[in-house]
Amino acid sequence: MSCRPCGPASDQPPRGRTHSTQAPDQASPLLRSSLPFPPAKQGIKMIDIGINLCDQQYRGMNRGRQQRPGDLPVMLQRGWDAGVDRAYATAGSLRDLLTSLRICVDEPRLMTTAGVHPSSSKDAVAARPDMRSGKPETYEGLFPGHYDVSLLAPYARIEQESGHARMNNYFRALDALLAADQEQMAHSLANGLPAHRKIIAVGECGLDYDRLRHTTKNIQKDVFMRHFDLSEKYRLPMFLHSRNSCDDFLSIMKQNLHRVPGGGVVHSFTGSWEEAKQLIELGLFLGVNGCSLKTEDNLQTVRRIPLELLLLETDGPWCMIRRSHAGYHLIRSHYPQTRPESATHPLSVVRDRVELVHMNPVLEVVTAIRHPDGPEAYQLLSDEEKDAAERALAHQVFLNTLRLFHPEEYATHASAQ
Ligand SMILES: [Zn+2]
Repeated sequence: MSCRPCGPASDQPPRGRTHSTQAPDQASPLLRSSLPFPPAKQGIKMIDIGINLCDQQYRGMNRGRQQRPGDLPVMLQRGWDAGVDRAYATAGSLRDLLTSLRICVDEPRLMTTAGVHPSSSKDAVAARPDMRSGKPETYEGLFPGHYDVSLLAPYARIEQESGHARMNNYFRALDALLAADQEQMAHSLANGLPAHRKIIAVGECGLDYDRLRHTTKNIQKDVFMRHFDLSEKYRLPMFLHSRNSCDDFLSIMKQNLHRVPGGGVVHSFTGSWEEAKQLIELGLFLGVNGCSLKTEDNLQTVRRIPLELLLLETDGPWCMIRRSHAGYHLIRSHYPQTRPESATHPLSVVRDRVELVHMNPVLEVVTAIRHPDGPEAYQLLSDEEKDAAERALAHQVFLNTLRLFHPEEYATHASAQ
């Protein structure tokens, strides 16, 4: 089966150094008819603030079925080679956090959030049956790498609990993992080692009224509020999610924001400019990905986000910038693709799956729509001018990301400039 290129080859002006992993004449027959893999951009350093590394798609699964071998390390490598400096895995449940810590523990460029996604809020109050066995899900075998195994022993019965008892123990277990992570950081700093910290934010948490079939509004609000205790106690910013819930979300944020050091980011922002304005007034950052670039209204909103509050993300494996999206024509980097059921290839992305390397298309579209004279004028610029504009935006977004998630590193950067 041949792979389907996602754009004409003439859209691909070669930039920067050529990708050295594999010479073109060694490419598999699968890729011969396809696009060349875009080379890394010079001088670009990006941080993907949200990628769902626990998602089964990176383990080669689709709807619970193994479709192909998992390719997480290869997928990450493509991203590092393409200018991604770090990535934050999004963890939306206790189970996710354990998986996420195991994924991140030995890779210094990966860090994770720790919290309960609004549509998983029910998980914090009612045990979920395991899809295969029909029994409650167990956390056995999921313990993350270097952390002390006895840490979660007091919460071993969470699987059998429900209601408030479960929620209390669920958040105590999250608290224990956050405490262990901060201890590791203190230990590494005391020994003159680089800060070995894996949890960079509390979240993903918030409200999602588009998915009330998963959890009621009241459970979502109760679970959301518990996160402020963690943020305050561990002095961590928040990784926030708000969908169709603007009024409740804003009122909870206004009541509690003073407890959140450094603030937070409302990731995957797809709201109106009116909504954006209210979040901006609270000093919250807005995370932009492919879903934020869908309509003309979306583009106008992203254009107006103050530069110092703008962050970029992929939200992979979701939020592809599709051909039907208003921002699609502004993409410069198109990648060769293999079909989801085919074997993966180091120089080909899996069709319809967003991965780390898709930070580039997000950066490209956002740079174009934020050009002072508009995207049409931007398109008339030379490749070199576009490269320079992308570098300037990527640099500012990189600094914004440090300011929110790594304030000590940001301070060093700022004083060096
Ligand atoms: Zn989200």
